[in-house]
Amino acid sequence: MKIITSIFDLNKEIKDYKNIGFVPTMGGIHAGHISLIKASQNKKSKTIVSIFVNPTQFNKGDDFKKYPRNIQKDIAILKKLNVEYLFTPNTEDIYKFKAKKFNLKRKDKILCAKFRVGHFEGVLNVMNRLMTIIKSKDLYMGEKDYQQLYLIKKFLSKKFKARINSCPTIRINNKIALSTRNKLLKKRSINKASEIALFLKKIKYKSKLQGSKLAFNLPDYKKELEKKYNIKIDYLEFRDEKNLKLSNFKNKYRLFVAYNIDSVRLIDNY
Ligand code: AMP
Repeated sequence: MKIITSIFDLNKEIKDYKNIGFVPTMGGIHAGHISLIKASQNKKSKTIVSIFVNPTQFNKGDDFKKYPRNIQKDIAILKKLNVEYLFTPNTEDIYKFKAKKFNLKRKDKILCAKFRVGHFEGVLNVMNRLMTIIKSKDLYMGEKDYQQLYLIKKFLSKKFKARINSCPTIRINNKIALSTRNKLLKKRSINKASEIALFLKKIKYKSKLQGSKLAFNLPDYKKELEKKYNIKIDYLEFRDEKNLKLSNFKNKYRLFVAYNIDSVRLIDNY
């Protein structure tokens, strides 16, 4: 595996390759990331994984500082997977060239965009920069961060004529979704989060039978969960997969959740 830090070196290295699979990450490589890498490798693409903890997408400085990092362990995992390239740029390089700024419209200011003001503007900004540098036609991203996937498809896939390949959420024992942030949780909170995942899966299942009637009860479920697990839920909403509008249960939909536990913010969808 070649580890490349400078944009210049990366361009020199990949300029002759047509089918490159790009897996953008913030590191702390886990089975969720690995599933994206395998999806890229299954397409017989050369794979570039990037590890860049992007400061502009964090609303709180503290959250950025606390974000788990372990580059040596990541390198060992990626080498074992036979990834061809690891790109680990520094912040100055990524932000030194001029690039378009993105603003969300009112209708996009829902779910995490409502609760983490400026977060997705930061995500779109950095993804625009990374896609400008790497020019890959195939990106691999996880459904775990469904709104991110949706916004990148909406704002960037046409501009770069790139396919955003969405990959299913990888969970521990079918319950809590893998996430680098889980490393910040106490064992007790991991157990709580697993129970919460199971509960929400059941609600999703019930909703298939009861539809809008159940949606009506969501505020009660929200209160019940907050009380039982001592968590603060930002949102718990059924929304359509295609356009993230509030679901009327006629089209494919998901149950979206974000909550804080141990001062760590977790998101998921079912
Ligand atoms: P992150 O390093 O958290 O920014 O995530 C990098 C990519 O991995 C994003 O496309 C995420 O959606 C994806 N990802 C993170 N966790 C999971 C998971 N549990 N299952 C599948 N994909 C994931």
